[in-house]
Amino acid sequence: MPTVPHHLSKSRFTSGLQCHKKLWWEVHEPDAVELQPDKVLQDLFDQGHQVGELARTRYPGGVLIERSNTARTERVAATEAALDSDAPAVFEATFIANDTYVAIDVLEKRGKGHHLIEVKASNSQKDEHIPDVAVQAYIAAACGVEINSAEVMHLNKEFRNPDMGDLFARTDVTEAVAKFLPNVPDELARQQAMLAGALPDVPIGLHCFEPRDCPFMKRCWPDSPDHIVQLCGVGPKRAAAYFQRGIQWIRDLPPTEKLNFQQRRQLKAMAENRLIVEPTLAKELKPFSTAQRLGFLDFETIMRAVPVWPAMAPWQQAPAQFSYHERQPDGTYTHAEFLAEGPADARPPLVEAMITATARADRVVMYTSFEKTRIREMQQAVPQLAAELAALQAKLLDLHPVMRNCVYHPGFNGSYSLKEILTPLVPELTYDDLVIVDGRVASVEIARLLFVAGKIPRHEHDRVRKDLLNYCERDTWAMVKLLEKLEELARDG
Ligand code: SF4
Repeated sequence: MPTVPHHLSKSRFTSGLQCHKKLWWEVHEPDAVELQPDKVLQDLFDQGHQVGELARTRYPGGVLIERSNTARTERVAATEAALDSDAPAVFEATFIANDTYVAIDVLEKRGKGHHLIEVKASNSQKDEHIPDVAVQAYIAAACGVEINSAEVMHLNKEFRNPDMGDLFARTDVTEAVAKFLPNVPDELARQQAMLAGALPDVPIGLHCFEPRDCPFMKRCWPDSPDHIVQLCGVGPKRAAAYFQRGIQWIRDLPPTEKLNFQQRRQLKAMAENRLIVEPTLAKELKPFSTAQRLGFLDFETIMRAVPVWPAMAPWQQAPAQFSYHERQPDGTYTHAEFLAEGPADARPPLVEAMITATARADRVVMYTSFEKTRIREMQQAVPQLAAELAALQAKLLDLHPVMRNCVYHPGFNGSYSLKEILTPLVPELTYDDLVIVDGRVASVEIARLLFVAGKIPRHEHDRVRKDLLNYCERDTWAMVKLLEKLEELARDG
């Protein structure tokens, strides 16, 4: 019996270029739990749509081929009609050939041919955009529509809110796409054949992370503390290099392997299955322990494709929330917090509240340099309080390098992220009772509260605000408890 071909699309095509196994699961298990967009992914889609709609405003008179409630064949017919009309451009121009469906963001008429515009919400044109454009050009050409040139219209990282420069930049990709085009029919055929068969066997590797993290990683990657990717400082690239040398597991490392200090300590902690504390811990903690009033500061930020506050660039992060605990000379703790309300620039009121809260602290603890970077940026964003921000910056103490230099527990699994180290060191403190447990979700939720608040019912708005406040407070309290634990270890040491 002949096999019914599996329909491809440009997103399936690019997914298959990343990994055939990933595409197979996407086609054969479309309802897989891994494929259901979470809040963070949904927000990325929404921001992409916003950028796409703004891009269309650059083509007055363009005709949109509506996607919703319209069958693909109707959209193909509507595209043909639009191309035959006087419209200078067609948005979502739809073509089907070789059992492959594509919708081109903007198809502009140029002379006797057409110019293809792929709109991306990224800050630059990337290699992965080339096959994406190529498959669109190939299918359009197969439908008799000549594409003479192509560009990626992306966000311009030099743009500043509200109107400094152009929000969009354009990169011509005609040549790169022409070079890639001959690969398209063969790859389409390979994908069709692969989809008609059983799940392909694809080894894990760098492609699991590039161009984007594969949602099926939990299915393919071993969940073991002994896996080489769990070695301190080993990211996707280094893991792939180990795979090429036939090393999958930490235990496979040859005794002659050059390892850094943290990695050697990790191996020792794993072999002896115990916490290792360096004798230098007490000395490294001195600036923390000698402060009379010691603050603990944590930010949550927003990050929008289309910048929302003055002088911000596309995708620039900006604090919209902070939590602050302060250890008093008598050993008790006070707490202060701020969470933006409404769409106006939150940085001036946030800075004012933060300067007041931290005024009496001798030193202020952060975990990684993230807070320091944001405070430096805010000296430009809130120039009237630049001197106060510089003074706060001078008080900052980073606990992260102390951890990296002095402590390892086998439960860290090679990571020094606050969430990863917390359970092994402070098991009684968890995030299990919280609704928001992840900074990326917090960021999306803050943006939702600030910029679409009118559409959120009051009770939900209040609940999400409370969830955000609880989450950020837990982060600074985690730092408090972490430092207390480190001081205890140093004393015992
Ligand atoms: S985790 Fe890697 S090997 Fe597995 S489906 Fe994803 S990309 Fe393919």
